Amino acid sequence: MRKRLLLVNLGVVLLGLAAAFLLAMPLVQNLYEEEFSRRLDTALAFMLNETDRIAADPQGFAREESALLEKSGQKMRITVIDPEGRVIGESGSQADKEDAGLIAKNHLSRPEIYEAKLHGRGYDIRVSDSLGDSYYYAAVYVEGRFYLRAALPMTELNRVMNSMQLCMLCGVLLGCTVAGLFAVVSARRISRPLLKLTEATRRISQGDFASRVQVSEDSEIGDLAKAFNRMADATSGAFHELHRKHRQLEGVLQGLDDGVLAVDGAGRVLFVNGRARELLDAGSLREEDFLTGSLALNKLQESIGEAKEHLHAVRGEMKTGVPERIMTVYAAPLNKGRASEGALAVITDVTEMRRLQQLRSEFVANVTHELKTPLTSIRGFIELLKSGDRDKETRLYFYDVLDIEAERLHHLIDDMLVLSQIENAREDASAVPCNLKKELQATVERMRPLAQKQNIVIELSAGEDGLWVLSSSSRLQQLFGNLVENAIKYNKPEGKISITLRRQRQTAVVRVSDTGIGIPPEHLGRLFERFYRVDTSRSREIGGTGLGLSIVKHLVGLYNGDVSVESVPGEGSAFTVRLPLNPEE
Ligand code: ADP
Repeated sequence: MRKRLLLVNLGVVLLGLAAAFLLAMPLVQNLYEEEFSRRLDTALAFMLNETDRIAADPQGFAREESALLEKSGQKMRITVIDPEGRVIGESGSQADKEDAGLIAKNHLSRPEIYEAKLHGRGYDIRVSDSLGDSYYYAAVYVEGRFYLRAALPMTELNRVMNSMQLCMLCGVLLGCTVAGLFAVVSARRISRPLLKLTEATRRISQGDFASRVQVSEDSEIGDLAKAFNRMADATSGAFHELHRKHRQLEGVLQGLDDGVLAVDGAGRVLFVNGRARELLDAGSLREEDFLTGSLALNKLQESIGEAKEHLHAVRGEMKTGVPERIMTVYAAPLNKGRASEGALAVITDVTEMRRLQQLRSEFVANVTHELKTPLTSIRGFIELLKSGDRDKETRLYFYDVLDIEAERLHHLIDDMLVLSQIENAREDASAVPCNLKKELQATVERMRPLAQKQNIVIELSAGEDGLWVLSSSSRLQQLFGNLVENAIKYNKPEGKISITLRRQRQTAVVRVSDTGIGIPPEHLGRLFERFYRVDTSRSREIGGTGLGLSIVKHLVGLYNGDVSVESVPGEGSAFTVRLPLNPEE
């Protein structure tokens, strides 16, 4: 750019000077010619006053007049030519040395003489044949007598023209130097901010949106730099806004509980959120990867392929991993016109939902069954009572059975209500600080008559007095009551129950152990499920509903604690409840 600017400047200077010179040269020449013709005309006009003298002694006249004019500062050559064209008088001192042949040449053909013959006066500029110098000639014709010609040497004009050419050469050199310097300076002035602009553009294109151009000058380049900075501001603002929205969207998608995955037309991953990686068990799945490498990915690829091929959303289901998880897949094509550009898949883990559905139907089946058994029994005994005359003793026995079954129903419905209440409660709004030792003592006192019936001894060892938990007294007593009741129900006659209370850091630990029948290990995992019983007939026989431990588990959960069980079949079981202590006590 600098080179081009330099060349252009030099070209302009050269052209300008050449044009000026070409215009000035003919102008100067014209001026000189006008001046010469004026001087020659004046001289000739004076000389024509002495035509007789000229005619009498043309050679003398020419020499004398020329000498006279030279004295007054005008070097002029005077020639007298007769009407036949012979030179009869010639002033030039050189004429002595002249080749006589040249002077003797007929002068009628000289342009100025020829013109004077035609119009009385003629002019010409040329190199003198006779003298070899350049002259400006003016001639007048004195009808029938002679031609009088005066000539001024062009040496002055040539000198002027030469000096003008010299001037032009100097001007060109000076102009070129100045133009060159100017071009270098202005190229630097123009190119420096342009270089800055180029650099800033390069940095912005590489992602450095903070890059700006600092141009102080108040010129078009300055305006361009300001416009560039404004554009950079706008671009940077738009980019950051876009980036912010992109992050927001990505945050939303990453935060979803469903897996979201998008692929392009070639099947390469465009986007995948963390949940999708987790559900597909593909922690290393990245953008640009293909959906291959595991059964789940292949299955997903199948659904996506189907959606892309048929250009409509596809719903599918797949099972993965151990433990088995059930997932639904919703794949929809990302259409552009009639072609599919890619597809979006949403993967939802429905394992828990399916489990709950299963639990619900199991629960309905269990409840129906649990209600049906005592009801069938009640209806059967009522039929027996109605069908014939029974003696008083039999009737009383039937009434007792009806009473027991009704009680069982009542108990069952009570337990179901309690369970439903606890399940629905997120936290216990009526919770107050309760002293665990007191609650355990109350529970033991409540259960002692039942234990005594079977000669079972209950021992409570609660060393710590000051253990308080946030709970409600009735729920705590229900929790421990269920455990103690089970320890009595599933104990051996004359067995023993021991209850301990201790503190473990910020937790109260209550352990209810018995010397009962124990629980085989294969049942321990499901023991706290609703209606789960180890020995169904024994449980029913002794009035169990199968909900006691489920209530315990939910109550413990309500107070952010936990419950565990250890058991040795034939030797006894121990249930351990851990409850967080009230932090304010
Ligand atoms: P149930 O009303 O049948 O007692 P639970 O939910 O309280 O229902 O108990 C579930 C099952 O766990 C019982 O049927 C019983 O088989 C077993 N179980 C509970 N506690 C004990 C225990 N202390 N000793 C042995 N088995 C027990």
